[in-house]
Amino acid sequence: MDLKLQQYINGNWVGANSGRMRTIINPYNQEIIATVPEGDESDAKAAIAAAREAFDNGDWAFTPATERGAIVRKIAEFIERDKEELAHLESLDTGKTVEESRGDMDDIAGVFRYFAELADKDGGELIDAPVANSISKVVHEPVGVCGQITPWNYPLLQASWKLAPALATGNTLIIKPSEITPLTHIKVFELMEEAGVPDGVANLVLGAGNTVGAELSNNTDVDLISFTGGIATGKKIMQAASVNVKNLALELGGKNPNVIFADADFDIAVDQALNGVFFHAGQICSAGTRLIVEESIHDQFVEALVERVKKFKLGSGFDEETQMGPLISAEHLAKVEKYVEAGIKEGATVAVGGKRPEDPELQQGFFYLPTIFTDCTTDMSIVQDEAFGPIITVEKFQSEGEAIKLANDSIYGLAGGVWTKDIAKAERCAAKMRMGTVWINDFNLYFPHAPWGGFKQSGIGRELGKAGLEEYTETKHIFQNLKPELINWF
Ligand code: NAD
Repeated sequence: MDLKLQQYINGNWVGANSGRMRTIINPYNQEIIATVPEGDESDAKAAIAAAREAFDNGDWAFTPATERGAIVRKIAEFIERDKEELAHLESLDTGKTVEESRGDMDDIAGVFRYFAELADKDGGELIDAPVANSISKVVHEPVGVCGQITPWNYPLLQASWKLAPALATGNTLIIKPSEITPLTHIKVFELMEEAGVPDGVANLVLGAGNTVGAELSNNTDVDLISFTGGIATGKKIMQAASVNVKNLALELGGKNPNVIFADADFDIAVDQALNGVFFHAGQICSAGTRLIVEESIHDQFVEALVERVKKFKLGSGFDEETQMGPLISAEHLAKVEKYVEAGIKEGATVAVGGKRPEDPELQQGFFYLPTIFTDCTTDMSIVQDEAFGPIITVEKFQSEGEAIKLANDSIYGLAGGVWTKDIAKAERCAAKMRMGTVWINDFNLYFPHAPWGGFKQSGIGRELGKAGLEEYTETKHIFQNLKPELINWF
């Protein structure tokens, strides 16, 4: 593999201080694909010190925004240039189909381009102050040193949502990928070095959450933490970040409802209900795993889903015929199996799937059959908990009010969908659904221009869009008195 397989700290490619290494495996067949340094708190501290120095010396923060934007744009160009290599690495590391990874790389280049364009568009704002002879202006400045922690499901995509806005606005950063999917992070740091990101501005530390991740969250030289991952980890990070009242952006999980009214376009709704869940074996935070279907079409809808699901082709992400790859790891597969067992115990019916595939060719990988549960009710754990696997639960409703109630019955509030030809009904539902994104007659579509994030326990703050840039800035008011006078109060 033509990759540096090192950490990147203060402009140097380095191993772990402890000398420890971690093997990275292919979830399709458990083959070792790489061995990388296993950093710990001491590596994180070195990276934080480099980022602190690079921020405090002001060189990057005060680089004209147009120049920073040009560097971010170059990163986008290099990602496009090396798209095939990046897509290959992402599929090796995650098991997802290479076609999906290619799509991810297009999206990632788009994210860097979007934030490159925004970099020099905010010149601040003059306020018409209620004070004669004064200038009152509001400017946005970088927050400082940013700790960024990413998950394994969309490794580089999630990283791009953090790296691009942080760099565009003049912050310095340390990023820690999931310990099991570091490869595309390493590659993008090669590209960032080539694009001319100055030493110390962007640092990559590899290692576990409870060492490197915890150090980033606890260290008082870090000013902001941006985290994407599970709720339990998010809560720990939120607590740790209170140590110096860090700025905080949390992108946590989802258990997303997809509401299908009887007047929806049946075939498109069936097709998109499947697309909404089964990409990357359902390991998508915004997967529409809770199907909420109007009773009059419920049986026909389930039948159509089951018929399609039975034909899914599971296999290697590098086989063009493959529609769905494996889950990420043995631990995760075991977790998904537990959720299914609980669903069966609680009285849900397995309409299709519900077990590992028997195909001998898939036995080395962490495969699980696409699964649909019917007879589901909101009190079931399979309906409430984020299994993060290829599982759909189906609930029935009779009225619009009931559909909205079911859709909102969750601790999560990341995203949801509604399918109907009645536009007024669609808008009423979208207004009442308590989620950061609602799709009408679509599902899972996102783009860099629109903000992304969760209501309720799905998170705090937003990524993408102008809001995603603002997360990386502090707002400052500068007031100048042009004609100071004596006040003579004291
Ligand atoms: P995770 O919470 O287990 O890990 C995420 C990251 O946090 C990893 O890099 C991990 O090493 C690190 N981490 C673990 N413990 C830590 C600690 N104590 N301190 C600091 N960092 C720590 O999540 P995961 O299993 O990698 O990812 C799956 C989760 O991510 C799902 O819940 C999914 O919904 C969520 N997710 C959310 C979004 C979104 O946009 N809302 C996007 C992708 C994934």
